[in-house]
Amino acid sequence: MATKNISILGSTGSIGKQSLDVCRKCGYSVKALTAFSSVKEIENQAREFKVQTVALVDENSAKELKIKLADTDTKVLSGVDGVCECAGTESADTVLNAIVGMAGLKPTLTAIGAKKKIALANKETLVAGGRLVMGEAEKNGVRILPVDSEHSAIFQCLQGKPSNRALKKIILTASGGPFFGKTAQELKSVTVENALKHPNWSMGAKITIDSATMMNKGLELIEAVWLFSVKPEDIEIVVHRESIVHSAVEYDDNSVIAQLGLPDMRIPIQYALTYPERFESPVGELSLSKIGKLSFFEPDYETFKCINICKNAINKGGLCTAAVNSANEQANLMFRQGKIGFLDIAERVQEVLERTPVCDEYTFDDVMEIDKFAREYVMR
Ligand code: NDP
Ligand code: MG
Repeated sequence: MATKNISILGSTGSIGKQSLDVCRKCGYSVKALTAFSSVKEIENQAREFKVQTVALVDENSAKELKIKLADTDTKVLSGVDGVCECAGTESADTVLNAIVGMAGLKPTLTAIGAKKKIALANKETLVAGGRLVMGEAEKNGVRILPVDSEHSAIFQCLQGKPSNRALKKIILTASGGPFFGKTAQELKSVTVENALKHPNWSMGAKITIDSATMMNKGLELIEAVWLFSVKPEDIEIVVHRESIVHSAVEYDDNSVIAQLGLPDMRIPIQYALTYPERFESPVGELSLSKIGKLSFFEPDYETFKCINICKNAINKGGLCTAAVNSANEQANLMFRQGKIGFLDIAERVQEVLERTPVCDEYTFDDVMEIDKFAREYVMR
């Protein structure tokens, strides 16, 4: 059943704002909104959509917002608990999680516990706690619909798949980011400004840096393992500079099915909300003859080390992907703050992975513990 009442976590970010745009166009009712500290933006959103509940993680910002929204019926909450309360909002049938980072894990688990349909943009949720999330989703009979463009593409290509055996591999496309074709020597001196210039997508700062290091593709490989129950070795990463083919699947008969479209996140956001239906889109039509040429390359694994770090982490299992994710969140931030160089990101993440004990089972508290360890190690 297509979504009707939705809560958006991380509504003030790049995906959050585009999700609200989709809700506007589809006429969906928005019940709850959350952000970290963006008071003005969330105030405007709360007024426009007349939402029941909003939450800001930052306590002082929440106090400020409460004063600003005093003339409305909107309830203002604060802290991580406030965000989780929004994730469980009774009147919503769907929760779109567009929080950045593993801070999205707890709200995702809360929304699953409340049996909401999940539209998941927050890939770090699956990288940090894939086993917990998929386990809870199965237990609660909850469906997780991907928002990430590649995973939305794979999900679309899998519609009508005859049986589990029929799928041979997933072809995960990557734009290659702003530094495609550069050598490690050239990457030594790149600046934050260079790294923030993505060729095809306009996104939040963290994922834009992840695209430059290609950590984003490593995180997406792990995300695909959990979402589609495939082995890491059954995922082939292909650099596709034009970002038109959003990913593909290959079946046992060597037939390859791909999903194409202009690079605009409102297409996968909308599909996650309208699934299994398809509505008209504000995004333009794809004209293949205007594009003319599509190119594909093998990734440069030697220069962009983060992809293999993620492959190793998912193969080691347990908390290794959580450790890699948290180490990357910290190193990515420190690069943006000018505290470390571009190539230090992969190096520090690798060091954390080497120091993470291998285990099979883990709890939410274990994820939080490894998160603390990873961040502290990267900062040291
Ligand atoms: P942005 O940085 O633009 O937005 C992040 C949102 O999360 C903001 O609303 C922000 O609030 C909120 N937030 C930040 N920190 C916290 C926290 N600790 N706890 C709760 N909320 C927090 O990110 P994007 O929209 O680019 O990305 C969101 C997610 O979607 C990421 O996981 C990313 O990987 C994924 N994604 C993004 C794509 C894109 O095109 N942008 C494409 C595919 C996936 P505030 O404004 O107050 O800081
Ligand atoms: Mg993606």
